[in-house]
Amino acid sequence: MYLTYYNGQWAEGNTPLYGAMDHSLWLGSSVFDGARAIRGKLPDLRPHLERVITSAEKLGLRCPLTVDEMEALVREGVAKFPPDAELYIRPLVFGSEGFLIPVAEKSQFALTLFDAPLPPFTGFSACLSTMRRPQPNMAPTDAKASALYANSTRAMREAKERGFDQAIMLDAEGHVAEFAASNLFLVTEDGKVVTPALNGTFLAGITRARVMALLAEAGVQVEERSVKATELNTAREIFSTGNYGKVTPCTRYEDRTLEAGPVARQARELYLAFTEAT
Ligand code: PMP
Repeated sequence: MYLTYYNGQWAEGNTPLYGAMDHSLWLGSSVFDGARAIRGKLPDLRPHLERVITSAEKLGLRCPLTVDEMEALVREGVAKFPPDAELYIRPLVFGSEGFLIPVAEKSQFALTLFDAPLPPFTGFSACLSTMRRPQPNMAPTDAKASALYANSTRAMREAKERGFDQAIMLDAEGHVAEFAASNLFLVTEDGKVVTPALNGTFLAGITRARVMALLAEAGVQVEERSVKATELNTAREIFSTGNYGKVTPCTRYEDRTLEAGPVARQARELYLAFTEAT
């Protein structure tokens, strides 16, 4: 079931949001976020809602709701599904009025929830994309802006055409940045757990930060540093973190097979235990 809150009402199905004169439709002024409900638990919901507000501000939009108001709506929406549902939760802020000028004059809020089972811990394949992440002075990389996903989509299309599930993107300087829509971790040949240091070209993932903290508590330190693309060729493990799949192992990188764990498995188990305790 798809359920959307918009303009004070809940509606099922593919609720229309945009009008032909809306700013975001023509000029890309929309930001969103993604969170999950897993059997009634809402891990890290507030950071995701806080990020919608800051993402909106980075594009000169104003989220018309506070975090508390959004949280109350999310809880109201989740209660409309069965208690054991696994849901995807997507708040959206978009520029509505002012489509003839670069700056949107008014913003709207919408919230969509839908059934989306947490992907199982089975591996995916990934290749190295020819698309790169833009630098902060080329695109609003500090926001979860819909406009950025045009490039992620190009990377995904290219990966699918080559027979892979996912794309790994480098930054403009050629360092590993992230997957097309999730953050990247790897375990090096000598067993170190590494993730690219935040450098403003890719999303500072909320799941990334949570997984780093959970691993550190369990005694596994994650090194944040710049990662060379060649390190992917010798990594023992590569895995992704993101709100949708949480922790998912990459079991084939280009023509090389990789193990699904043990670090990725531990990170996934720690994340699920954290969710249970939320
Ligand atoms: N990078 C990109 C481009 C993404 O779309 C996502 C998913 N939001 C992530 C990373 C992971 O971020 P988070 O853990 O905050 O969902």
